[in-house]
Order: sequence, then structure tokens, then C-alpha cells
Amino acid sequence: MNDQLNIGALLERAEKYFSKKQVVSRTLSGIHRFTYAEIGERTRRLMSALKDLGVEQGDRVGTLAWNHHRHLEIYFAAPGMGAVLHTINLRLSLEHIIYIINHAEDKVLFVDEDLLPIVEKIATKLPTVKAFIIMTDQEQLPTTNLQPVYSYEPLLEKGNPNEPFIKDIDENAPAGMCYTSATTGNPKGVVYSHRGIVLHSFALGLADTTAISESDITMAVVPMFHANAWGLPFAATWLGSTQVLPGPMFTPKLLAELIEQEKITITAGVPTIWLGLLKELEGGNYDTSSLRAILCGGAAAPKGMINTFETKYNIPFIHAYGMTETSPLATLSRLKSYQNKLSVEERLDQRAKQGILVPGLEMKVVGGNGEVAWDGVEMGELLLRGPWIADEYYRDERSQESFKDGWLYTGDVCTVDEEGVIKLVDRTKDLIKSGGEWISSVDLENALMAHEGVFEASVVAVPHPDWQERPVACVVLKDPYKDKVTKEDLLKFIAPQFAKWWLPDDVIFMDEIPKTSVGKFLKRALREKLQNYFVQN
Ligand code: ADP
Repeated sequence: MNDQLNIGALLERAEKYFSKKQVVSRTLSGIHRFTYAEIGERTRRLMSALKDLGVEQGDRVGTLAWNHHRHLEIYFAAPGMGAVLHTINLRLSLEHIIYIINHAEDKVLFVDEDLLPIVEKIATKLPTVKAFIIMTDQEQLPTTNLQPVYSYEPLLEKGNPNEPFIKDIDENAPAGMCYTSATTGNPKGVVYSHRGIVLHSFALGLADTTAISESDITMAVVPMFHANAWGLPFAATWLGSTQVLPGPMFTPKLLAELIEQEKITITAGVPTIWLGLLKELEGGNYDTSSLRAILCGGAAAPKGMINTFETKYNIPFIHAYGMTETSPLATLSRLKSYQNKLSVEERLDQRAKQGILVPGLEMKVVGGNGEVAWDGVEMGELLLRGPWIADEYYRDERSQESFKDGWLYTGDVCTVDEEGVIKLVDRTKDLIKSGGEWISSVDLENALMAHEGVFEASVVAVPHPDWQERPVACVVLKDPYKDKVTKEDLLKFIAPQFAKWWLPDDVIFMDEIPKTSVGKFLKRALREKLQNYFVQN
């Protein structure tokens, strides 16, 4: 059994070969620096402290925390001792947080000091939690009604600095858990195995994917409570990269400063983060020359944004696709060597697609007549399988809808071109059905966001008495363009790219587009708001 893949071995490697390399962590009190030797020792102490608290193999260890070094230590301590790391999305409603802690049956709960108010409100409804551990830089624990409560640092002091990582563990045993939002009802639990996480880390290291390496200085902006911050903390530790963890409540300004000061080489997050950063770069004077890549996923990367980062700021952009259920990396968009001959516009078109399947995975795209042709036109649902693709939702009847015959039905509709590159057309639930034909909201959004005055655009399906549904665009203009750009300007701008019936029936200007807990456009809220739009107008 000692050839089984396990997560403890990832950190052990960093301790051994990269003991001097650093983890740079921002917490409420400022920036802190630790070497991997220190992180390793602290993680070992944490494992022994958790054992003393009664945590056993298979138990779930909950975290309600930002991206920082202590969260990283729990990332390795929980699976490193055979328990299961359960990262909780702190932006969910209290009702959903209660549901997932109870559903996962978390035995202990790690909480950031500033997130205490969340847990204090719900503590009496969490019967499985036997200990609350507060993560703070203060000597004194903040006053709290949580019981029993512990402070992270004193627990570590008492722990054994030489506690061993568990090795005789089945590589298919659960190592982590993350709940993903469902269209309706409670969030659904996704379980990650040791094998899945280790192989996903390999995938992040490949030259043709993200090529994470020792020479990198990574900054995961994507939260550690969302799909393991896309697996970056595991891969970066294993491969010996310097890691910068941007901590609580960061702003685009702070991110720009960290990029400059820490000389970040690769950073990862959703498109709304990068739209915010672009705005900051436009107004400031930052040195971003260290960046070799911005990794962007979680929602479609608008073409205009890719273009601005690359041509104006000389920052290479990598567009990738995945979901919580896929650990998350599934496809990644890079030009093939012979495609460099394409025109600038063609290259951009290609790069804005979601890319090709990462080695190690399998895909099928299934439409009304079976698997679709690789012609870039026929649409079908994307099905995935592989070592880091989930095969069920944790104790959830909804598994039957999404997992069939060994495949994950992603609920994403795409085309495949002759190069095998997928292009996401929409989520099944976001597609606009007009007069029996499909309209892709993603294509319309991309076109709108290419306009110089547009900051954000989201296109949604609105019920229509004659056409079943019609597209309506919700647009946020950049400040200097407010009240200057009109609906007619925007429709005229995108018209050449689409058949007439694809064009949105209306453009509604807003100050802000509502976002999901991880910063994606919350189309559900827009749809609800506009539900009676065509009836009223
Ligand atoms: P949720 O957004 O439902 O909370 P996930 O973060 O798991 O949960 O989201 C996964 C979904 O995000 C995918 O199914 C897909 O619809 C969308 N998505 C992810 N990456 C991309 C991308 N590069 N382009 C377009 N859509 C994407």
C-alpha cells in the first residue's frame, strides 16, 4: 500500500527539497512570511493537536476561512492525518451554511476571527461540531459565546512538531469536500480523493496547461473555499513554488500591489476579479512585468478582456474551464504551435474558447442525435470522466441526474471544432430559447463586453408571450461612458456579428450586476427581476 498517492507526501516533499522557499500570507494584522520548513512543522503540530481533540480518520474538518497560511496548514493537516478537509463557502446564506455543516457532519470547525459573527449566529444548530478553533493573530481570544472554543496558535504550541503524515491510506479515500450551489435546493457535496487531488496537481504542472513550477510565485485569488482554490495550494506546495495568499477582503488595489511587490508570476481567479484589476491598472501605475500568466476560469473570459491584458499590459492570459465537480481543471485554451499563423482576431477567437481536454480526462459531447460532429456548429451537453472528476454527490439523491454510466453530465452546452476545442455556448439552464431556436447568452455578452464603454454585461432569457423567451442585456458602463453610450449604440456595435433575431430586445443599464458567492454573474437574480418585463412593457 505504500505506493498509494497521498496528500501528506506533497507537503513532505516541500519540507525536504524546498525548505527555504516561502509562503507569504496576508492576515488581518498584515503580511507574514513562513518557509515550507515552518509550514511543515506547524502542519505536523496541527495534526497532533487535532488528534488530541478527538479527530479520527474519516472525520470531516470544516473551515470557514480566507486564503492564508493557517488555511494552507489545514489543507495538509486534515488529509495528512486521514481526515477530510471540508472548506465552507463563507458567502453562502446562513441557512445553507448550517445545512452543509450538518450534512457533512463536521467534527471540528476552524473559523477566522472576522468570520466569528457568522458562526456565533448558527452555533446552536451545529450538533456535530465538538470544537471551534479560532484563527487569530491576537494573543487573547476574542470574546465569544462559542463552546468549546480554542485558539489556533496555542493549540499548535502544544502539538508534536514531528507528528508523521499518514501513509497507509487507500488513495481513493476521501481527502477533501466542497459543496457547490444547485439551481434550486441545498448545495451539493463533492468529495475529492487523495488520488484525484494528487493527479490534478500533476495536471497543473504540465507545460501545456499551467506549468506550475519551482520558479513560480503563485497567487490564488480564487478562494480556498471554492474548489480548493483550483488546486493551486496543493500543486504549488508540491512543486516548491513561492505562494502568496492574499487574505481577507482584498481589493483590486491590494492585488495590484501584491503583484508588483511580491513579483507574482501566475495568479488565478474568475473574470470579474480581472475586470476589477483592469480598472485598477488603467487608473494606476503598477509594474506587472513579473506576471507570466493570469489564469481565468469559472465563467467565460470576455475576448475584449483577454485582448486588453495582452496587448495593453503584455500580460499573457490563460482561459480554462472546470467546475467544483472536476477539481476543477477540465479544459484549457492554448493555441497549438501551427495556429500562431492565424490572424490576431482569429487567435483571439480561439483563445476565448474553453480549449482542449487536459491529459488524463475523457470527454463526450452529446446532442439530440448522439455525439456531435467536431464542426464547431452542432451543440451538445459536455460529459466528463477521469481520476479527478467526481462520481457522485455526497449522500444526495440528485446524484442520479448528474452521474450516469460513469460520466458526469456537466449541464454545460458546447460545440467542438475540428481541433477538438470546446466552446461553451451556455449552461443548459441559461440558454435562451426563442421561437424554438437556441440563442447563446455567452456570445452576446462577449460581443457587448468588447465595446470600449462596457464594464460588465450579462444577457438573460426573459419570458416572452410570442417567442417563449427573448434575450435582454443588462449592462454596466464604465464611469466615463455613463449616460453617453445608448442602447442603440450597443446594438449597432454588436449587430454585424449576429443574425437579427439573436440581438437582445432591450439593453438595461445598471450600476452593478448581482454576483454569486464566488463573483460570477447571478443570472438567476436578473431573470427573476425581469420575469414580467415583456408583460409589463
Ligand atoms: P457554481 O458557479 O455553480 O457555484 P462552479 O464554480 O462549480 O459552481 O461552476 C462551474 C460552472 O461554471 C461550469 O459548469 C460552467 O457553467 C461555468 N464555467 C466554468 N468555467 C468556465 C469558462 N471558462 N467559461 C464559461 N463557463 C465556465
